Amino acid sequence: MNNSVIPFIAAPDYAHTDAWLSALQVAMPEFRIASVDALTPEEKQTLTVAIVANPDPAVLQQLPKLVWVHSVWAGVERLLMDLGHTELKIVRLIDPQLADTMAEAVLAWTLYLHRDMPRYARQQKVAQWLSHEYIPPQRKTVSLLGLGALGKAAAARLQLAGFQVCGWSRHPKALDAITCFHGEEGLIHMLNRTDILICLLPLTAETRHLLNLKTLQQLPQRASLINFGRGLIVHDENLRIMLDSNHIQHAVLDVFEHEPLPADSWHWHHPGITVLPHCSAPTDRQTASAIVAAHLRSYMQSGAIPDSVNVAQGY
Ligand code: NAP
Repeated sequence: MNNSVIPFIAAPDYAHTDAWLSALQVAMPEFRIASVDALTPEEKQTLTVAIVANPDPAVLQQLPKLVWVHSVWAGVERLLMDLGHTELKIVRLIDPQLADTMAEAVLAWTLYLHRDMPRYARQQKVAQWLSHEYIPPQRKTVSLLGLGALGKAAAARLQLAGFQVCGWSRHPKALDAITCFHGEEGLIHMLNRTDILICLLPLTAETRHLLNLKTLQQLPQRASLINFGRGLIVHDENLRIMLDSNHIQHAVLDVFEHEPLPADSWHWHHPGITVLPHCSAPTDRQTASAIVAAHLRSYMQSGAIPDSVNVAQGY
């Protein structure tokens, strides 16, 4: 095990490589954090771990002894797709700061929908003075698809804000003051009672297009949607049908199949959509670097690799 240098490998066009190299170096001064280009041929032959941000798989192949990689992102679908069948262990970022930032975004955009802000903004444009019935949060159900590191933190924040909160996961869960559902039948039961649906699922073979006509129709009339997970979890054209028929009142979308969202995409101008530029929960370089550093120190001392992604499951 070579424990003096740790490579940071990002996508070739990634704009923040230098900022990450500095933040990681500050967090672990006992190691040399370097880009692959700065490694000696001997280092390339011996390194067993790398820190990654959507690396080019061909670059990883320059490190034949690599056993595991620590990603600085929470979502791993792109990495899994790029790597294909791999023996490499993939550790993803689990950072309480990220969960907190996401919980804040979930609360902010839930309140945006709860207090009818898109509707009042539309009314202002036509100088219309008209108030709508107020329904308190205690009489509204906000449901989370996904009760993982991010979903659980968001659920707790929504519950504190007074909403009835439900959550859906693959495995059964019991969480304080949150009504938990799992499995296909559980999904339908949850959707049937939901006013605001929030997606915090990972993109996997099972969750791709999970939100389609069949499932979206299970929501009550005039429900709303927030997608903070991944674009492909929502079937775009099916969502459009549900918005055009007013079955779904409004959708806040932070993630899209193609990012940046192309200028000619219908989403930009649809009155039922709020477009966000994948900004709900950015990774905090400082806290993420501290977490990666703790994992690497422990590995260098004991050989322990943190829990890794279940490649077959896709998250
Ligand atoms: P996580 O800890 O792995 O949690 C994933 C949750 O989804 C778990 O509760 C899991 O169920 C559930 N799940 C997965 N597949 C399912 C299925 N087929 N049916 C039902 N439930 C399923 O992930 P996380 O850290 O919370 O992150 C979630 C996602 O958020 C990431 O993958 C990423 O795509 C997205 N994200 C977005 C942003 C942004 O800025 N927009 C930022 C960070 C992350 P179990 O608990 O039963 O396993």
